[in-house]
Amino acid sequence: MTTISDKLQQVLCRIQQACAAAGRDAQAVRLLAVSKTFGADAVLDAAAAGQRAFGENYIQEAVDKIQAVRAAGRNDLEWHCIGPIQSNKTRLVAEHFDWVHSVDRARTAERLSAQRPAGLAPLQVCLQVNIDGGPTKSGVAPDEAEALARAVAALPGLRLRGLMSIPEPLDDAVAMQAVHARLAALHAQLRDRLQDVLPEPEAFDTLSMGMTADLEAAIAAGSTMVRVGTGIFGGRTPRPVAEG
Ligand SMILES: *Cc1c(COP(=O)(O)O)cnc(C)c1O
Repeated sequence: MTTISDKLQQVLCRIQQACAAAGRDAQAVRLLAVSKTFGADAVLDAAAAGQRAFGENYIQEAVDKIQAVRAAGRNDLEWHCIGPIQSNKTRLVAEHFDWVHSVDRARTAERLSAQRPAGLAPLQVCLQVNIDGGPTKSGVAPDEAEALARAVAALPGLRLRGLMSIPEPLDDAVAMQAVHARLAALHAQLRDRLQDVLPEPEAFDTLSMGMTADLEAAIAAGSTMVRVGTGIFGGRTPRPVAEG
């Protein structure tokens, strides 16, 4: 049987090879282990194998899991919200997560900032961009990203770290890489244009793109964080309804 630890090593190996192929430093790309639909045990296994950052889509499921994992003694893990956030869930996100990749409107950002507990570090935020105009309604349009970035940069409970996207999968790796390269170009452009509002422009350093199927294409285009679920934890049984 292939264990979570084995699969984690395989994914880390793929990342390393992709970095080498792209002439990039292997340290330049972080692995976010997407543990949605898997239980606390799976997270604890991956943590025991050295993984620290975990991504979750469904807020209530995630909060229960975070609490179970902490109760099992792992307070050293980093939790990233990567799913859609309905307004009645912003408080849970603000209270339990370290990062949010899926901010795509000012109203959500304002609520997250206001609800971030004072004792915690600011929530690390990536803006979700609908880079390929895909059918998913999530993500800010590329030409509206700068205005949203300015709004987020002004909020005291948040720290703007970069951009995230979930493009439609393409079979052609070259075409996939070209889509990822568009997000990388937008990121570089915003980093220039936001100098006046970012207290630390060098902290606008995150390009969250690439999943199990396309992490090589994303890394070739400049990804700094790949979000991998299936490659580490195996296939998921589909969830009946979106909970948010
Ligand atoms: C589920 C999910 C992933 C992981 O996808 P895999 O194909 O299982 O690696 C990455 N990012 C987001 C936003 C997701 O919802």
